Amino acid sequence: MEILRADVVVVGLGAFGSAALWRLAQRGLDVVGVERHGVGHEHGSSHGETRLFRVACMEHPGLAAVATKSLELWTELGRDTGETLVRQTGCLNVGAPDSQTVQGPLKAGVPVDLLTHEQLVARQPQYAGLRPDDVAVWDPGAGICYPERNVRAHVKAAQRLGARIYLEEVVEVDGATVRTQGTEFRAGKVVVAAGAGLSGLVGGLPLVHRPTPLNWFAPKEEFTLPRFPAFIWDRPEGGLWGHGSDEGYAVKIGVHPETMDIEGVVAQAFPGLDPKPVKVVPCHVTDSPDGQFLLGGIDENVIIAGGDSGHGFKHAAGIGELLAQMATGENPYCAVDFLDPARFRGSSSNG
Ligand SMILES: Cc1cc2nc3c(=O)[nH]c(=O)nc-3n(C[C@H](O)[C@H](O)[C@H](O)COP(=O)(O)OP(=O)(O)OC[C@H]3O[C@@H](n4cnc5c(N)ncnc54)[C@H](O)[C@@H]3O)c2cc1C
Repeated sequence: MEILRADVVVVGLGAFGSAALWRLAQRGLDVVGVERHGVGHEHGSSHGETRLFRVACMEHPGLAAVATKSLELWTELGRDTGETLVRQTGCLNVGAPDSQTVQGPLKAGVPVDLLTHEQLVARQPQYAGLRPDDVAVWDPGAGICYPERNVRAHVKAAQRLGARIYLEEVVEVDGATVRTQGTEFRAGKVVVAAGAGLSGLVGGLPLVHRPTPLNWFAPKEEFTLPRFPAFIWDRPEGGLWGHGSDEGYAVKIGVHPETMDIEGVVAQAFPGLDPKPVKVVPCHVTDSPDGQFLLGGIDENVIIAGGDSGHGFKHAAGIGELLAQMATGENPYCAVDFLDPARFRGSSSNG
């Protein structure tokens, strides 16, 4: 078996791992990335053309700083590569005034606008079945980002900075040692960002795999970006999220819980659309018990990033920067105690 050494080995080059690789290489470290598929593949959680990008994150007030860091880093990287990595066309958080969907973004500490029911109806005639008390929070810094494109941009940037990449290699992690079939990597630190494979690699994590399809609907004039901007809509019968079509991609809509009849929901909520999806692609969410990510050291050598809970892509670059700071002992650019894996110490994995 070949033995190779590195300052840091990153396992998994999806959203979080590819960003960590880039931010570590940016610091001049000798860094290796190992991935069991190719770069920008469609077998994990980071594929499907687009993701919602939100700054006023309803999930936790501490996440606005991470999304803001992603925006800063992606804007800079996009300037260097000539690519658009985030497109800011805003996002509507729609729901009852006391719902988390409305209250969460108001607590995020970033500029937002609260729209009355009447303002929402006037602005978005595409919506049907709003309840009389539904209002919306407009997050102007929000929009969409691009999973495959951004992951590839991270990896290319890392390679330009000297990172070594090993693809189509399944690894096992044993403290600071990472093994593939033919190679043993001995590292100062190991970052494990293996998505749905995280529990299998480090064990003892209370993560649950949730198959979550991506659905696209035929484009229509009034459902294009920016006229039909990104949205999250909290309804008693279940949630909806999505965004308008543009530049070769169709209207995207998802439902939560995923077991809901999407054709029935779309027919009711957006009667101007043909409710039959034109494309459905499987994807995977890895849920944590509290819906927040797991980010931090689990022992002196191993740092993990995972438990994306369905809202992680927008934070990828910001999380990559935090992982690099954790691996090098720098102070984190924002407080992330609420993401510390230690909060689940003693919990066990159930898949
Ligand atoms: C349908 C859907 C919609 C979503 N919508 C949004 C959204 O609108 N906005 C948003 O911000 N987020 C959204 N998300 C969540 C977002 O996509 C995820 O948070 C993010 O992609 C998670 O990235 P990750 O790096 O944890 O996992 P992944 O991207 O899956 O990366 C893990 C990588 O590790 C590799 N790996 C695993 N095991 C091993 C091993 N043993 N050896 C080597 N490599 C290994 C895998 O191949 C994979 O490449 C959505 C997710 C889904 C499924």
